[in-house]
Amino acid sequence: MARKTVILFPDTERALQNAGANIKRARLRRNLCAELVAERAGISVDTLSSIEKGVSTVSIGAYAAVLHSLGMEKDLELLGADEEQKRRYREFNLKIRKRATPREKKHKKGDGPMIYITGDCHGDFEKFDIDIFPEQKEMTKEDFVIICGDFGGIWEKDVSRCWETKLLDELDSKPFTTLFVDGNHENFDRLYSHPVEEWNGGKVHKIRPSVIHLMRGQVFMIAGKKIFTFGGAKSHDISGGILEYDDPDFFNKRMALEENFKSYRVNHYSWWEQELPSEEEMLEGITNLEAHGNEVDFIVSHCCATSTQALIGGGRYKRDYLNEYLEKIRQSVQFKKWFFGHYHNNKNVNAQEILLYEQIIRIV
Ligand SMILES: [Zn+2]
Repeated sequence: MARKTVILFPDTERALQNAGANIKRARLRRNLCAELVAERAGISVDTLSSIEKGVSTVSIGAYAAVLHSLGMEKDLELLGADEEQKRRYREFNLKIRKRATPREKKHKKGDGPMIYITGDCHGDFEKFDIDIFPEQKEMTKEDFVIICGDFGGIWEKDVSRCWETKLLDELDSKPFTTLFVDGNHENFDRLYSHPVEEWNGGKVHKIRPSVIHLMRGQVFMIAGKKIFTFGGAKSHDISGGILEYDDPDFFNKRMALEENFKSYRVNHYSWWEQELPSEEEMLEGITNLEAHGNEVDFIVSHCCATSTQALIGGGRYKRDYLNEYLEKIRQSVQFKKWFFGHYHNNKNVNAQEILLYEQIIRIV
C-alpha cells in the first residue's frame, strides 16, 4: 500500500526548514562532519542532509537520533512546550532589569537616546525577539543595543548558502541600532573584509546600515557617553588544538580528537588567530585613551582584566597577554562601568565591572 503523503501548509514547511537549518548550525558549531553525525545517528549521509533541509518525509525517529548525536535530545521535549522557556527567559530579563534600574522612568520616544547592553549571542539573536525584549517598542535607530563580543552573525565560510544573511537582515530591520565588539568566535577573515569606516569618533565595520562592528582600541561618543571598545579573547575550547584543513592527515587527526571528545578548532573555519589583538591594535587603544585624558564613561570588551578574571574564574582561566593589557587599562584609566562577556554568566563582579551573558540591561 502506498504511504499517504502529509500535505503541509507553507508556514509549517518553513518551520520544518528552519528546524533543519538549526540542526545543521548546531552540527557545524560542534565542528562535526556530516559523515560522523550520520554514523553516530545510524542513518545515511543523505538522510542527514534531508533532515538539515527540513524534509517532511524523514521519520521523526531519524530526527531524534540526530538530535541525540548532537547532545540535543532535550530539544525534543520542547516540541509543543508552549514557549515555556521563552516565557521564563522574558520574566528573568524583566525582573533583572527592574532591579538594575530601580528609579528608571518609563522611556518615551524622543526622551533622548538609550543604550542597552548584553553578552554573547553566537549568532542566536532570539533574545531580541519583541516578547523577550519589549522595550524595543519605544526604541528608534537612534537607540542602541551593544553586544559584548561573540556576536556570531559572521561565522560561516561559505556566505552564499548560509543562514546569516536572513539573520543579519532581521537584525537590521529591528527598530534599534545594533553595535558589537568582536569576541573570539567571529569569522575574522570575513569581518575584516568589510571596509573600515569612521563612525561617532572611532573606526567601525558596517555589516548592515544599523549593524555595526566597533573595532578594537577606539573611543566612541554614543548617546552622549564616551565608550572605549576592545574586543577579542583567547578561546577556552581548544584543548585538542588547532587543525589545518589542508593538512594531509586532517581527517585522521579530527577523527582521533572527536573519538576522545577533545575540543578542537579548525584554522580559518572555526578559529582565527586574530581572536587575540595585534600590537598595533593595543597601541592604538593606549594612544586613543591618552587623547581622551584616560577617562571614559564606559569600557566594553569581550574578555576582562587579569584581576577581574581571577574573581570570576576561581583560578580556572589562564591569564594571557590580552588580560594583562586590559589590566593595565583598568589601572590607568578612569571609567564608570566596564561591561564584558566571554565567560557565559551574568554577574556584577564589583561595583564597576559587569559580566553579561543572556541579560539585556539598560545603561543610558
Ligand atoms: Zn562566547
